[in-house]
Amino acid sequence: MASPELSLTAKLHHSFFDTFKDRGDLHFSPVVPSRLDQPTKVSSNSLLATQLGIDPAALESQTMLDLVSGNFGTANIKPIALVYSGHQFGVWAGQLGDGRAMTLGELPVTGADGKIELWDLQLKGAGPTPYSRFADGRAVLRSSIREYLCSEAMHGLGIASTRALYLLDSKTRIYREDVESGAIVCRVARSHIRFGSFEHFHYRNQPEGVAALADYVIDRHFPEWAAEHNRYLKLFTQTVENTAKMIAQWQAVGFSHGVMNTDNMSILGDTLDYGPFGFLDSYNPNFICNHSDSHGRYSFKNQPSVGLWNLNALATSLMSLLSSDELIAVLKTYEPHYLAHYRALMAAKLGLLEYRDDDEQLLNSLLELLQKNAVDYSLFFRQLCTFSATDQSVRDHFIDRDAFDLWAEQYLQRLVQQPLTDQQRCAQMLRTNPKYVLRNYMAQAAIEKAQQGDYSEVNLLLRVLQNPFDEHPEAEKYAGLPPDWADHISVSCSS
Ligand code: AMP
Ligand code: MG
Repeated sequence: MASPELSLTAKLHHSFFDTFKDRGDLHFSPVVPSRLDQPTKVSSNSLLATQLGIDPAALESQTMLDLVSGNFGTANIKPIALVYSGHQFGVWAGQLGDGRAMTLGELPVTGADGKIELWDLQLKGAGPTPYSRFADGRAVLRSSIREYLCSEAMHGLGIASTRALYLLDSKTRIYREDVESGAIVCRVARSHIRFGSFEHFHYRNQPEGVAALADYVIDRHFPEWAAEHNRYLKLFTQTVENTAKMIAQWQAVGFSHGVMNTDNMSILGDTLDYGPFGFLDSYNPNFICNHSDSHGRYSFKNQPSVGLWNLNALATSLMSLLSSDELIAVLKTYEPHYLAHYRALMAAKLGLLEYRDDDEQLLNSLLELLQKNAVDYSLFFRQLCTFSATDQSVRDHFIDRDAFDLWAEQYLQRLVQQPLTDQQRCAQMLRTNPKYVLRNYMAQAAIEKAQQGDYSEVNLLLRVLQNPFDEHPEAEKYAGLPPDWADHISVSCSS
C-alpha cells in the first residue's frame, strides 16, 4: 500500500484538474505564494480529507504543510487568482478580485453517485496578488481561526458552505490594529465564482466574459444543461433557489453573515467568505454582527431582503444572456422559495410535522416573546426539545412567565394534533436544534489560546461543531449561556 505521503502527493500533484485555466476564454492571473516564516500546523480536518478521498494520515505529513504554506518546490502546481468586482454595502466598488486567495487547482473527488466532482483548493492568506490593491495579501491567525471553524460549523449544521481543510500559523508579523501572526487557511469549495464575478464583465461591457463564465459554471456543475437553449435561465433559477434556501437556513439557525456584498455571494449558494459573522445569543432581529456596519444594512433581519437585492445585482449582470422579463420572472420566485424553506425549517425547530397557516401566529408570537425577554435563541430551541405538559423547564428563560404560559398553552394544543409521542418529537427536534453553535466568545477563547501557541481549543471546537447536534461532555462549558464578557467582543472587517 502506498504511504499516506505518497498518496497525497499523487492526489494533489498529479491529479489536479485545471478546467478554469485550460479554457482560454476565462480571466485569471498566475500568482506565486509568498512564504511565511516558520509555518506550523494549527489544525487539520480529517473528516473533510476523507470526503475528498485524501488519506487523513497525509494531513500530518510535511508534504501537506509544504502545500498549504505555498512551498511546492518543483511540483506541477501553478496557482491563480481570480478577478471579480462587486457592490459593497450597496455601492458599486469596481474591481476587487482574489486579493489574498490563490486557487491551487481542482481536486477530482468521486461523489456518492460515482460521478467525479471537482473541488477548488485555495490558500487564503498566501501573500499579494495583482488584486491586492494596497493590502498585504495576508490573513491574521484570529480571522483564519474564525473562518476555519465557521465553515465547518455551517457544514455541520447542514448549510451549504465552503469548507476548510487545514489551518496554519506562522512567525510572520502582520500589522493590523495590533501586530498579529500571519496564517493560512486551505479553503475547499465546489466553486469560488461569485455574483461579483459576473458583474465584473457586465460593467466592463464584456458580454462575452459573462457568457464564458456562465458556460464554465454550467459545464462544471450542471453539465446536463450544457446543450440546452435555456441553460442560462436554468442557471439563474438555480442560483435564486439556492440563495433563498441558504438564507432561510441562516435565519433558522440564527446566523448573521455580516458582509453580504455581492462579491461574497457564491453562484452556487454556498456560504462564502467568513468575516465578522455572528450567531445570535439572545434573540434580537436587529442584531448587527459587523462593527463596521453602522447603519445595519446587513443586520440579521435584513438578510433575506439583501439576498434579493444581491440577486437583482446578479440579474442586471446577466442582461446580455437573458431578457428582462425572464430575469424578473425568476427573481419573483425568490420570496416564495425563501418562505417555503424558512417555514419548513421553523416548523421542524418547533417539532411540527408541517407548517400550517395558523402556525404563523404561533411562531411570530414566540419570536416576539424571545425578543422581549432577551432569551437565548439556540438554548431556547434546544431546551424546547424536551418540553411537554409535564416538563416546562424552558419557562425559566422568560422574565414574563405569564406570557410564556399563554404561549405554551397554544403550543401544547398544537402538539396534540400530531400523531407523535413526546419522545418521538424530542428525537426529531434534537436533530434540528443544535446544541452547539460557534458563538463569538467560543471563537475568541480558541483564538486567545492559539495566540499563546496552544491550539487545543481550535481542535476541540472543530470536533464539536462538526457534530453540533450530538452530546459532547468535554465541551459542556460551551453548551450554556454565553458569559457576560461575550457582549463586549467587537468584530469588524479588519482581518
Ligand atoms: P472581504 O471583505 O474579505 O470579502 O474582502 C474584500 C476584498 O478585499 C477582496 O477583494 C479581498 O481579496 C480583498 N482583501 C481583503 N483583505 C485583504 C488583504 N489583507 N490583502 C489583500 N486583499 C485583501
Ligand atoms: Mg470577500
